[in-house]
Amino acid sequence: MSNDNKPKQNKKTSIYFIIAGIILIIAIVAGIFWMNSKKDKEEKTISYTDLIKQIDDGVIEKVEMTVGSTSIKVKIKDVEEEKEAIVPNTQAFIELIQDQKLKGNEIELIQKQQNMFYTTFQYLFSLLPTILLIILFVAVFKMQGLGDKGKIYDAETTKSKIKFDDVAGLDEEKNEMIEIVDFLKEPKKFYEMGAKIPRGVLLCGQPGTGKTLIAKAIAGEAKVPFISMSGSEFIEMFAGLGASRVRKLFEKAKKVAPCIVFIDEIDAIGSRRTSNSGAETENNQTLNQLLVEMDGFSSEETIIVLAATNRPEMLDKALLRPGRFDRQITIPAPDIAGREEILKIHSKDKKLANDVSLHSIAEDTAGFTGAELANILNEAAIIATKNQHNAITNDDLDEAVKKVTVGLEKTSRKISDKDKKLTAYHEAGHAIVSQFLPTQTAVKEISIVPRGVAGGYTMYKSDEDKSFISKTEMEEKLIALLGGRAAEKIVLDDISTGASNDIEVATEIAKNMVTVYGMSDVVGPICLKSSDGNYEYQLLGNNMEDIIDQEVKKLIDTAYKSAQQILLQNMDLLHAIAAELIAKEKINEEEFNKFFMQ
Ligand code: ADP
Ligand code: ZN
Repeated sequence: MSNDNKPKQNKKTSIYFIIAGIILIIAIVAGIFWMNSKKDKEEKTISYTDLIKQIDDGVIEKVEMTVGSTSIKVKIKDVEEEKEAIVPNTQAFIELIQDQKLKGNEIELIQKQQNMFYTTFQYLFSLLPTILLIILFVAVFKMQGLGDKGKIYDAETTKSKIKFDDVAGLDEEKNEMIEIVDFLKEPKKFYEMGAKIPRGVLLCGQPGTGKTLIAKAIAGEAKVPFISMSGSEFIEMFAGLGASRVRKLFEKAKKVAPCIVFIDEIDAIGSRRTSNSGAETENNQTLNQLLVEMDGFSSEETIIVLAATNRPEMLDKALLRPGRFDRQITIPAPDIAGREEILKIHSKDKKLANDVSLHSIAEDTAGFTGAELANILNEAAIIATKNQHNAITNDDLDEAVKKVTVGLEKTSRKISDKDKKLTAYHEAGHAIVSQFLPTQTAVKEISIVPRGVAGGYTMYKSDEDKSFISKTEMEEKLIALLGGRAAEKIVLDDISTGASNDIEVATEIAKNMVTVYGMSDVVGPICLKSSDGNYEYQLLGNNMEDIIDQEVKKLIDTAYKSAQQILLQNMDLLHAIAAELIAKEKINEEEFNKFFMQ
């Protein structure tokens, strides 16, 4: 949904371009038409002096006048076509003709009533160029956003019909949101209790993972209006507009509160404030206005602001302060069970053949987001229709997966079986090694669903209360970090780039042990790292550098050997856990611990 708003805006812009183009063409055609008719007229008209002369000469047969008009038509003897003329004073002209009649000059005088329709049309037609010009101006201004009175880019307010049941997987995330729903339903209860409810919640995750969906579901569950706008819509060519849009957005929200305000792509306005030039200043104004609005809620206003981003690290720190977006919820790409559930939800309104196994499709789509899965089912329905099937078959689905996968190949998020195996052994290696290290915290979750740049991850339980880390703990941390690489080497007899981050972290820890924490007996308790992060090796003479390097290497080598040893003694476990990971992609704490109970 994050991309939904942008094309809409582009569509609007291009509609204005088309309108402007059409008007321009009409104006040109009208101009040519007008000039032509003028030329025609010149041939058809005679001047007043010529007219008087011809009346005197007695060649005029007939004069046709219209009441209230100075334009007349005259019929000249032996001339087929009637001519037009302008008479300055119609009354005097009529008298002149009657004089001629008295003189025996036979001139037929016809006096007609005005044709209202014709004159009105004529009048309007003469105004046409002006009207077109005005329309053209308005269109151009609108295109640039100047004439914008908040209509085109108006925030959308909807009554969301989406419920939590429409959001597959994401159970923990939904659980966290229930509190917000309750608050929106009965704010009074919370206020009376003195409870503080988050004002802003930041939803982090790649596009298509369901951030917009879950925000809508909150509004749907709480039965409150859902007001949404995309960060990119705040960014404008003309200074001050972004800020005024933010103001309007919240004015609207205050009117309909309790409500949900959803800001998609918040990084477009909330990126770190840096320089003071051009677009940046505009962004800053917009961002500042957003901060002002969020700080300015009175306790009576029940507005919850949800914002979505794929790059939380880019956001200005000010946005994340208490009272603003002080709660972050990461929306991950779905695991195999989540994918199956998403497929189930999106196939509800589709006809599936009996042989279709959504589970096997879920297996084939590691790394796919909810949006991509929804897309696959839609593609499959289109393919089935094309193939004139009665229902969507397995083949239709396979073809749809391929179609979407090829489209995805650029990002290559579809993981090959080989990569899956490698990642499984790597992560299993981390988890098993750390399980045998007394100082390391328990494994909370292992996953081979890619997340960001990482192919998989092993999550450990946190122990935040600790203020000091012992030398043993650091050494064991190194062993756990190198467990991934050790497993790759043992099982596949090959190593991959997948461990590069582990190695980086391990090296940094080892360096700090030697140069900051004084944990090397050879170097002694000396801090060799300056506050700017550089090492001051020369402090202890030239060969100190080599000694430090040797000490760091010794720590790493020892840790790597220990990791290998642990794994070699537990090969059954390594194979079993890796196999389970390949099948399930995610293993939780309980499932992991079961392996160690026999
Ligand atoms: P985001 O806001 O994170 O970019 P969206 O919420 O716009 O993603 O998701 C786009 C579409 O993908 C949704 O409208 C829905 O059809 C589908 N989708 C994504 N995640 C889920 C999910 N967890 N359950 C069901 N459908 C999902
Ligand atoms: Zn690793």
